[in-house]
Amino acid sequence: MARDFKQYAKSTYQWEPGHKKHLRITKSSLTSDFDYCPKSYEYKRKHKLPEPQTDPMIKGTNVHDAIEEFYVNVVPYVQKAYDLLKANKRDEAMELFQKALPEPDEPYVLGEQASIDSRLGMDLDRLLGDGVTRYLPIINELELHAFTEENIEFNGETVTIPVHYAGMIDRGFRTPEGSVALMELKTGKWVKTLKGADWVDSDFKVKSMRTEMMFYKKLLQLCDHEYQDVTHWGWVYPSGDQIEIPAMSKYGYEQKSTNRIWYEPCTGRRNTDYSKKIRRMVDALLTAYLTDNFEPTPSQGKCAWCSFKDICPAWEGSDDPEEYRKAWEAEA
Ligand code: SF4
Repeated sequence: MARDFKQYAKSTYQWEPGHKKHLRITKSSLTSDFDYCPKSYEYKRKHKLPEPQTDPMIKGTNVHDAIEEFYVNVVPYVQKAYDLLKANKRDEAMELFQKALPEPDEPYVLGEQASIDSRLGMDLDRLLGDGVTRYLPIINELELHAFTEENIEFNGETVTIPVHYAGMIDRGFRTPEGSVALMELKTGKWVKTLKGADWVDSDFKVKSMRTEMMFYKKLLQLCDHEYQDVTHWGWVYPSGDQIEIPAMSKYGYEQKSTNRIWYEPCTGRRNTDYSKKIRRMVDALLTAYLTDNFEPTPSQGKCAWCSFKDICPAWEGSDDPEEYRKAWEAEA
């Protein structure tokens, strides 16, 4: 989907006190980058240091593009597919769904088709279970922008910071009660661990997904959007079984990556807890900008994957973005 660049032009990650633009906060900049490591956020977002594009990123984009277009093209096929499912003709229903997929610009080489097929299979199950009326999404890759002000206590004073919240919601559906359920598509791994006789979902993964979904829920509220009555959220991992992970976790439990659909209410205590969590993250981000202090939070596991390890002060690096930039240009 084409981005609304005019909105993004009003904000920046290079914000500092007195800047004429808003400070931009997106779901991935806050709940992925800053939460992962403030120092890595500083290099990536504030200093705009380049990073290599990875296969998982390309695959994620290709699968998202295909599924977005699928939901546009599938409209004339939904009733027929439902009738076929009811008649126990699932293969024919799948063939119909496949017709709604776009032709990729380049042939898929990263397992995209398997992920898409898996996603469509899950959607056939949903169509059969829920029926035709609520099958189509009311949100399909919805880009949202909210311009607001945040107040934060800093050095005994209340400081006001203009903030641009932005994000793209994958999908939203009507619940049976008429409220809204948000659904996020992920093409990465979903880890389960064998505890006793049960395969248990990764608690870390569940919490991080809830945090992401809460960002979207808040964004809809900030926009005073017609779909802000979000009572449920969920996520779908259709590629989990394609991803190999070590057979044992670092705690000595057997583990595997699987496909997964998750769906749950997000009102009451859950809403309060994750709303507070987003608030804490935003306050920490604003404080980092006000103090110009983005602390590294190193760990062997995550730093092994970090592009900026060579200059990171946690690994006795120079903390000099120019050193990284020069090395990048020399390799190009
Ligand atoms: S190497 Fe580790 S601590 Fe340093 S920026 Fe990267 S993730 Fe953060």
